[in-house]
Amino acid sequence: MTPDAERTEAPSTTELSPPNRTLMGPGPSDVHPRVLRAMSTPLVGHLDPAFIDLMDEVQELLRYTFGTDNRWTIPVSGTGSAAMEAAIGNVVRPGDTVLVPTNGYFGGRMAEMARRAGGAVETVDAPWGEALDPDTVADALAEHDPDVFGFVHAETSTGVLQPEVPALTEAAHDHDALVIADTVTSLGGVELRVDEWGIDVAYAGPQKCLSCPPGASPLTLSDEAMDRVLARDEPPRSWYLDLSLLEGYWGDERSYHHTAPITNVYAIREALRLVAEEGIEARWERHERLSGALQAGVEGMGLEMNAAPAARLPSLNAVVVPDGVDDGEICDAVLERYDLEIAGGLGDLAGDVFRIGCMGYSARPENVVLTVTALGDALESAGADVDVEAGLEAVRTALR
Ligand code: PLP
Repeated sequence: MTPDAERTEAPSTTELSPPNRTLMGPGPSDVHPRVLRAMSTPLVGHLDPAFIDLMDEVQELLRYTFGTDNRWTIPVSGTGSAAMEAAIGNVVRPGDTVLVPTNGYFGGRMAEMARRAGGAVETVDAPWGEALDPDTVADALAEHDPDVFGFVHAETSTGVLQPEVPALTEAAHDHDALVIADTVTSLGGVELRVDEWGIDVAYAGPQKCLSCPPGASPLTLSDEAMDRVLARDEPPRSWYLDLSLLEGYWGDERSYHHTAPITNVYAIREALRLVAEEGIEARWERHERLSGALQAGVEGMGLEMNAAPAARLPSLNAVVVPDGVDDGEICDAVLERYDLEIAGGLGDLAGDVFRIGCMGYSARPENVVLTVTALGDALESAGADVDVEAGLEAVRTALR
């Protein structure tokens, strides 16, 4: 057969039929059926008047979910990293000093993006698995006098929630630094009050506590942060994520910049409607309750949580892997036997922890019971010293 003839032969495929998993890993989480239905509705044009109305609704629902009045609140086309790069790439100007944390994988990604934006990166340190200490942050701010301070509110790699956010933002503002918060794994699941806490810029992902497929990722900027972006001497390096250009589409003009991922905007609208119906505070409470039951279950069977109680992130629970156990084998066994996704550790914690999500539509009692059962069963089969019945009894008590 000649090469040309080969190219005309269609590849053979089968109808799409993904396995029916329960997603209790670090994201994505299970998508709510209403969001899936919204995604199967017909497309309209990205400048259709009906779509413009829908964009307004998404922006208003995002403001509610972030706890902000920021005019500059949009879903960025792309995954959480696109919203992250939009935040960092626009706010950081060449030569700016940017202070970032070293206590997790995504602080490292912040540093890398800040460097690519032309920033000079300095770090504020804490071990992986611990939160930043406000006094250490204040010292680092005094030492480096940064233009921008970035922190990760919910570190998906370590299961650590950064508490005392207002203490960090006040200290940063004392040094005239703008504050960028990574809220990818907190938005819609963990208490977050952008305006009240003095956060200047926050970005997130839809596939965690919003239980929406990845594709349109929340971003919010204060007027002060946006003023800095609009006053830049040179444009940001990315054309696609240049907020001064995106203003034309998401601002008053509503003119073409790129073709918005319409189906993903439908999806995030429905996911945010679910947040509004439940009530943001009730949603935070649900995540705390279900994560509490999960933690009771893993501790009840004899395992240890990795983070200290005050810094535990309800949406991502890091559980210490017992000695002599291979985390990858356990995750594989759980997937194979129970169609349940959990994950192993990342970066410095690779091999040391299981990462178990408790996010959005996945954060339900039946999923907690399934997770404790499946994890316990797989560990028991691998010879670990666990008491699965005691774990399940602890879950039942916590959920009563
Ligand atoms: N920041 C944090 C804390 C995350 O957990 C993730 C993804 O897991 C990201 C940023 C990047 O998001 P994405 O993978 O959607 O690009």
